[in-house]
Amino acid sequence: MNAVKEPSFRESVDLMFNRAVALMDLPPGLEEKIRVCNATYTVRFGVRLRGKLHTFTGYRSVHSEHMEPVKGGIRFAMGVNQDEVEALAALMTYKCALVDAPFGGSKGGLRIDPREWDEHELELITRRFAYELIKRDLINPAQNVPAPDMGTGEREMAWIADQYKRMNTTDINGRACVTGKPINGGGIQGRTEATGRGVQYALQEFFRYPEDTKAAGLSGKLDGKRVIVQGLGNVGYHAAKFLQEEDGCKITAIIERDGGLMDEDGLDVEAVRNWIASHGGVDGYPKGKYIRDGAKYLENDCDILIPAAMEGVINMSNAANIKAPLIIEAANGPVTAGADDILRAKGCVIIPDMYANAGGVTVSYFEWVKNLSHIRFGRLGRRQEEARHQLIVDELQRLDAHLGDKWVMTPNFKQKYLRGAGELELVRSGLDDTMRAAYQAMRETWHSREDVEDLRTAAYLVSIGKVATSYRALGL
Ligand code: NAD
Repeated sequence: MNAVKEPSFRESVDLMFNRAVALMDLPPGLEEKIRVCNATYTVRFGVRLRGKLHTFTGYRSVHSEHMEPVKGGIRFAMGVNQDEVEALAALMTYKCALVDAPFGGSKGGLRIDPREWDEHELELITRRFAYELIKRDLINPAQNVPAPDMGTGEREMAWIADQYKRMNTTDINGRACVTGKPINGGGIQGRTEATGRGVQYALQEFFRYPEDTKAAGLSGKLDGKRVIVQGLGNVGYHAAKFLQEEDGCKITAIIERDGGLMDEDGLDVEAVRNWIASHGGVDGYPKGKYIRDGAKYLENDCDILIPAAMEGVINMSNAANIKAPLIIEAANGPVTAGADDILRAKGCVIIPDMYANAGGVTVSYFEWVKNLSHIRFGRLGRRQEEARHQLIVDELQRLDAHLGDKWVMTPNFKQKYLRGAGELELVRSGLDDTMRAAYQAMRETWHSREDVEDLRTAAYLVSIGKVATSYRALGL
């Protein structure tokens, strides 16, 4: 039997935090102030459904208010508990600081299996939960702004926004009370794909540095890399799809709730996703090798492992068997602190959650700004940009005609160059820039300090440093 106890999710976050602050020189007391969760609100409410009163338990935790509003998703899952919500809220504080999103950290959760309820029932439950949080300002555009997480998406965010509007009819900024809304409900282009897109941008940035690639025992670019992904939900699906379609990666295994699929020749992400949508799981998919204990495939040989489902899946019981030289934590907390020690000792490079899945909060930040400014990004400048480009194209065409067949414009150049940036292009550009800048800050700390062995510690050092600066500015 293993004598060393597996740390809980919150203990893992605290252990990783402690490892980083031991390398910092924070004033006495500030370390504790940053680490602890400021407040967690627990609510139990009843909803009459199917002729019976059902009681539900939900949480909203505020980790740090050094910047307001605080930000963090709302999760619907049976495993939700106070410990988990507090760990996730702490991660949000560090994540927002790392990517310069001007928010404190928060997180919410409702203990429910969304698959057990039909849409109308879920709406009643979500609205009632939102009501409880709104009346305590735990949902508010200036104080606390939720977003989607596991088990929630655009639909739930639209219900929450509408509930807020009903309770605050004159708040002109009401739509900014939640992000991840559908486009016609005040959302922003590119939010649904944002977290997976951020994972793709993070990997692209990692592979721009041969020194970092080499540290993971890899070489070359993303093209042809063998990837295993766990969880084909919002984050895992988009990450795997973009890596396959745009970067030439081969998805050699997909692990879902009901089992895993493996095909060394590569699985078609879109086809597997469609299969899950119509069959409820990966079982029966006509290609690849299916096993019921899908988590076994985490241990397969591959270049990049993407856990994108839930926390604690790589732990002290399987860490030693993990063969991937590079893990990117698309989910929050998929590697426990105990597993992290084992993997680091083996030389595995881990791109940590607080950075890897920060694409979601980054685009949420853009959505919040859009809601407060009441104007779509690109609306003012797009046509003006196109008109200026037209001037250049006209001039080039004039030269083209003058020079005859000595000089011919590349096909498609005109069409591509003329197109001014719309909201989606601007969002992707802002996200890419954010992911690159945050990675550069982490790697600079990783490589410039002898005492920093890994990217996670580097990420904590950068983000805790920023939170500490904010607290100092507040006079603490
Ligand atoms: P989701 O509910 O859309 O998808 C989760 C997927 O994982 C589902 O397909 C589910 O069937 C699968 N799954 C659940 N348990 C599993 C298991 N034991 N083994 C294999 N697969 C399993 O959730 P999501 O929004 O994609 O979130 C996934 C992770 O990413 C969570 O840790 C979440 O906190 C994190 N995250 C999400 C966002 C976001 O914008 N949605 C942002 C940052 C971080």
